[in-house]
Formats: sequence, structure tokens, C-alpha cells
Amino acid sequence: MGDRQKINLVWLKRDLRVSDHEPLKRAEEAGLPTLLLYVFEPMLLQDSHYSERHWRFVTESLADVNSKISGKVSVANCDLIEALAELNEHYLVDSIFSYQETGLANTFARDKTVSGWAKEQGINWLESQMAAVMRPCNNRDSWDKHWQQVMNAELINNQLDKLKLIQHKFDTSQLPAYWKVANPMMQAGGASKAKNVLADFFEARGKDYHWLISKPLQSQVSCSRMSPYLAWGNMSLREMYQAVLQHRKRDGWRRAITALSSRLHWHCHFIQKFESECRMQFDHINAGYQAIPYRDDDRVDSDLAAWQQGQTGYPLVDACMRCLIETGYINFRMRAMLVSFLSHHLQIDWRRGVEHLGSLFLDFEPGIHYAQFQMQAGVTGINTIRIYNPTKQAKEHDPQGEFIRRWCVELADLPNQLLFEPWTLTAMEELMYELSIGKESIGTDYPAPIVDTSISYRQASDLLWAWRKRADVKREAKRILNRHVR
Ligand SMILES: Cc1cc2nc3c(=O)[nH]c(=O)nc-3n(C[C@H](O)[C@H](O)[C@H](O)COP(=O)(O)OP(=O)(O)OC[C@H]3O[C@@H](n4cnc5c(N)ncnc54)[C@H](O)[C@@H]3O)c2cc1C
Repeated sequence: MGDRQKINLVWLKRDLRVSDHEPLKRAEEAGLPTLLLYVFEPMLLQDSHYSERHWRFVTESLADVNSKISGKVSVANCDLIEALAELNEHYLVDSIFSYQETGLANTFARDKTVSGWAKEQGINWLESQMAAVMRPCNNRDSWDKHWQQVMNAELINNQLDKLKLIQHKFDTSQLPAYWKVANPMMQAGGASKAKNVLADFFEARGKDYHWLISKPLQSQVSCSRMSPYLAWGNMSLREMYQAVLQHRKRDGWRRAITALSSRLHWHCHFIQKFESECRMQFDHINAGYQAIPYRDDDRVDSDLAAWQQGQTGYPLVDACMRCLIETGYINFRMRAMLVSFLSHHLQIDWRRGVEHLGSLFLDFEPGIHYAQFQMQAGVTGINTIRIYNPTKQAKEHDPQGEFIRRWCVELADLPNQLLFEPWTLTAMEELMYELSIGKESIGTDYPAPIVDTSISYRQASDLLWAWRKRADVKREAKRILNRHVR
């Protein structure tokens, strides 16, 4: 016992960087030898909100951290408690420094176990606040002010040379080697990449941010594309916010900067909702919708699978899903449209699609994801009800069909007037374009629509507006406004 070297731990989670990093600062100041720990936890590797793409991004992010420190992050692949116990057997762990995590129910339960274990062992676990997300937060009275204070505070000046880093070798033989192989279709992880992407945004591509934000194709370039870097903590929100503000006086950039900085505010606003009311992982945040009917017929599973695979017969819906599967990214409006199609047109319970999209979004962030999903599914009782017409969205936001042609290659040869509504092809046109709709006979096949959106729109609208008027929904809406809105 007496021979064990006294150390501190910095437990890295979704904060995979070495700048503006409070737990690291605490370790620097404490002066003890420090071990940086990242654990690939089986409970998360098996969780269906996550997929290979996330773990590749984490692997890349860790490689970037390693390139900046004079040692290596100690990586484990076991339950968190097992990793901590193994370390505490070899060393005398004095303190654990980490960020608070606004995560899924399983990380919340794990944190409770860690807290109990640390107490038992006499280890001090000090958690830093993540961005401006407060714990606890019972209302939003002073929240905006708090957000401003956090975002405008000086960046933490990490001095890595002060760290006496030590490393422990865990058994990681079960971690797949292919996570180390880049996927050129997806954004690669790491703080250096984050910096380059943001610099590139300000170089030129972000100037029309606010105009192009809803276009599925152009937004891929004109949006910041910082979401995975923020979600996995390759850059702190404050670092990004302060970088954004530096450009506010540039000629021609005012509107882009205003639109972007308000979204950085939304980032914490949505995570705060989840932090304050995490039951929204399982239930409608507005309890008045408890009994809202969803489809329960024997075609639900096949319709859900068609949505998941980009085979609904609606070109923009399918293009978005296929783009997500390949690249891990689509813009905000298209995400909203996918949820609307699932919960309004297909009338499938949003909870049956939420994990699927989480596993596809490279930037999966539980707080934003659940809060946005419920909002788009129309079960908050406080937001505008939006039922997107996917054909109208396609004509408005992809008028030349470039995005659709890119991802629904079987439709690539169709002229614009047929591209958005391929189900209107006559038998002659099917032969001409060697495309069959809903059959598997001629040339390439594209599915017939799995739902008629002109009918489903009416049904969803009647249902949602009828529920919106219910006394219990209105009562809950008031509670939600008091708790989550300033
Ligand atoms: C159903 C649904 C699920 C979503 N799930 C996620 C998710 O898991 N992770 C995630 O980061 N975003 C999520 N979003 C929000 C938004 O779509 C993405 O943040 C944005 O598209 C990411 O691209 P960007 O970084 O280029 O965004 P930009 O427009 O450049 O915005 C910069 C940053 O601001 C924040 N931001 C932007 N829009 C929003 C928003 N509407 N709400 C909250 N924060 C926002 C993000 O951190 C983003 O990286 C979701 C939206 C919907 C409709």
C-alpha cells in the first residue's frame, strides 16, 4: 500500500483536447504525476445510439491529443470502474478530474457508481462544468447571463509542460484495428482538424452561411461543420465562440456571424434541457402526449426499415438518409424533415427512430438530439408544429436536384420535372429512363412511395392540433416554459 505512487487522474470523455481544459489545468496545478485516461466502455460500444464512426472519431481525436503531450493517453477497454480499480491497485489515486457529462441514462448511472466508488476509496472526484450547462438548474432566470459569462471568460491557458505524465498499459487487444483506418467520406477527429475546419470556414466558405443553411448540398460547405468537434470536445464551445466573435466586424459577414453565434447559444440551451429533465430519453417531455396514438399495424416495421435505409420512395428523404449513412452529416432542416417524415407522415413513434439517427450523426450529442427530436416530432406542446412536405422541400432547397442525383443515383437521369415525383413516371417513361418504380423488372428499381403525403399531412395535422388543445398538454406546456425557457 505504502509503495504505491501517488497520482492524479484526468478522465477524458467528450473533451478530447488539451486546450481550454479545466480538468487538465487542475492537474497541472496539483503538481502530482498525472495519468490521462480514456475508456472505451463496453456499455457505450454496445449502445445503439453509437456506431463505428463515433469510435473512429474518438480514436483519431486521441491520436491528436497524443501528438501534443509528452506521453500518451492511457486507453482502456473495460467498465469504467474496472479501469479505475486497476489503476488504484497500481497507484495511489489522489484525485480524479473530469468534466460533467450530460449523457444518456447509462452514463448517468455509471457516474453514480463512480461517485460511490471514489468515496469508498477516499478519492476526491472533482467535476468541471461542461460549457455553460448548469447542474442543477431549476429555471432559466439567470441562465443567459451565465452563458455570456462563461463564453466571454478568458480561455484557460493549459501549460502541458507542467504535467508530469505517466502511462498505464491496459489490455486493449479487443479494440478493432480498423478504427485507426480513416474513412475519407467522414470528417476526421482531432483538435488540429477542428482548428483547420474553423479557419477554413472563415477563409471564405462561411460568408453565405445564413443564406445556404437550409440547402442540403450547399450547406455542407457553407455551414461551419464544427458539430462533431464540439460534440466530442475537440474544441471547447468557448474557443469557438470567441473565434467567431473576432470576425463580427468583417465586411459582409455580420449576418453570418449573428446567425452562427446564436446557434452556439442554442447548443447549450438544448443540452441544458436534457440535463434538467433527462427522462426525455424515454418519455415525451410533455406528459400530456403520453397516450398520443402511433401506428401499430403490421406494416410499421417494414416502413421503419424503408425510412432507415433510404427507400421510402420520396427522393429527398431517401437522399438525406443515404447521405447520412455514407457521410455522417446532413444539415438542420433535413434532419428535421427526416424526423417529420417518420413521426408525422409515417406516424411512427419518434422513439423508434431516435437511436438510428443518433448512430448515424457523427456529431451525436444526446442533449441536442433528444430535445430536437421531440421538438420536430411535435410532442413538446410549446413549439410550432412543422409537418414538412418532402416534395416541396426538394423543389425549394434542391431545385436542380443535384443533391438528390448525388445520393439516389438510380434517379440521376430523370429530368427535373420527374425527379421530385418519380411515381408519376408513365410506363413509356419507365422504359425510356430504364427505371422501374416499385417493381424489380426493368433496369434499376426505385421504390414506390410508402405513404401518400397529401393524405398523411392532413391526418397528422388534425391529430397534432387536436392534441395541442388538450388541457393536460397545455398545463404541461406551461410547466415546460417555466422550467426550460427564459
Ligand atoms: C432531429 C435533430 C437532431 C439533431 N441532433 C444533433 C446532434 O446529435 N448533435 C448536434 O450537434 N446537433 C444536432 N442537431 C442540430 C443541428 O442540426 C446540428 O448541430 C447542425 O446541423 C450541425 O452542423 P454544423 O456544425 O455545420 O452547424 P452550424 O449551423 O455551423 O452551427 C454551429 C454549431 O451550433 C450548434 N447548433 C447548430 N444548430 C443547432 C440547433 N438547431 N440546436 C442546437 N445546437 C445547434 C452546433 O453545435 C453546431 O455545430 C439536430 C437537429 C435535429 C433537427
